[in-house]
Amino acid sequence: MGEHTADRTAARARAELRGDCASCFGLCCVALPFARSADFAIDKDAGTPCANLRTDHRCGIHATLRERGFTGCTVYDCFGAGQRVSQVTFGGGDWRTGPPERTRRMFDVFPVVRQLHELLWYLTEALTLPAARPVHADLREALAGTERLAGGTPEELAALDVPAHRQRVNVLLLRTSELVRAGTRGRRKNRRNADLMGARLKGADLAGADLRGAYLIAADLTGADLRGADLIGADLRDTDLTDADLTGAFFLTQPQVNAARGGPGTRLPDSVSRPVHWTAGR
Ligand code: SF4
Repeated sequence: MGEHTADRTAARARAELRGDCASCFGLCCVALPFARSADFAIDKDAGTPCANLRTDHRCGIHATLRERGFTGCTVYDCFGAGQRVSQVTFGGGDWRTGPPERTRRMFDVFPVVRQLHELLWYLTEALTLPAARPVHADLREALAGTERLAGGTPEELAALDVPAHRQRVNVLLLRTSELVRAGTRGRRKNRRNADLMGARLKGADLAGADLRGAYLIAADLTGADLRGADLIGADLRDTDLTDADLTGAFFLTQPQVNAARGGPGTRLPDSVSRPVHWTAGR
């Protein structure tokens, strides 16, 4: 497959790995627990519908989530798990009208499918990276295997050992990262799982760095060079990315970007979109 064709295929796949709320029964607003915090204005148990969820499965305060203390809702993305569980796994059956056992099972498998879809996101991206060609066959196999698991029955999904599968995929993602960063001058910058909370990294040269799982909460990365950096699992809550360059940064997800701060001068990789609240000044 040519590189342009592969990119188009990946773009289509990535579009499907984004939440489509119109095709979902508001699962993230019901199935997940919330703890009152800076991200959520209320406490809520798993399986209890949020008080703001309307009967048509839309959010009643969608336009004012941040002002009302629900920043977490503007950051979250289900990677397309919501529409799969609603329309495919449970065949379009609404949790509001189904028997309680079926409803419980739906809420149980939603986070499982979300984790599998997150892996599909990484594997899809890895297959677009030319430097990872030596492991493309393994990546394709892992992608097909993960897709098979995500398409399982509710019972199969509920019984799935997700951490074990994640571990197997992670070996491949690590290898991908090494191959991609091998050609960059920053390949030796290892900040894996580093505690960089609140760090002053204005203008830092982090090109090609390994920032897997790094804690960058509220760090100042304004004007930093993050080109070609591996950002898988990095915690970017309130990280200031104003004027930072993330061109070619990989394994970055939309929720990570949504959680960070940025502006018109922030350069993002093509895989993610610029959050609306960056331009709305919220
Ligand atoms: S506030 Fe809105 S988006 Fe957030 S959980 Fe409640 S209904 Fe869903």
